[in-house]
Amino acid sequence: MSEPSIFTRILQGEIPGEIIAETENAFVLRDIAPQAPVHLLVIPKTQEYRNVVELAAGDPALLTELVGLAHTVAAEHSDGDFRLIFNTGPGAGQTVFHVHAHVLAGGLEEGRLGG
Ligand code: AMP
Repeated sequence: MSEPSIFTRILQGEIPGEIIAETENAFVLRDIAPQAPVHLLVIPKTQEYRNVVELAAGDPALLTELVGLAHTVAAEHSDGDFRLIFNTGPGAGQTVFHVHAHVLAGGLEEGRLGG
């Protein structure tokens, strides 16, 4: 078994974090260092998958569920339009190897690809 990730520790209440939604299989955490007016992380409760490639291969239904949850929280916390980003690998900026989707929303009209 791998060590609990920072997201698992937040889910288990070991360290503080602002969890804004939770379902049977996933939860949504407000990012501690927001890169947009609304910056949320949609995270499966299992830390079995290190990145979205592993998740897509291992449990595509769970990946689909994450996309639906991203849409739900983007509609609740902004106007429903959002960017969905999975940093995949250290070279792409991934720092937590427990798959998570960044949901960026609100005031994104400048910079089509997040610039
Ligand atoms: P990534 O770099 O794609 O692996 O994303 C990890 C994200 O987790 C970053 O955007 C961090 O700001 C965020 N993060 C790290 N620690 C915490 C925390 N304790 N609470 C909320 N977000 C966090």
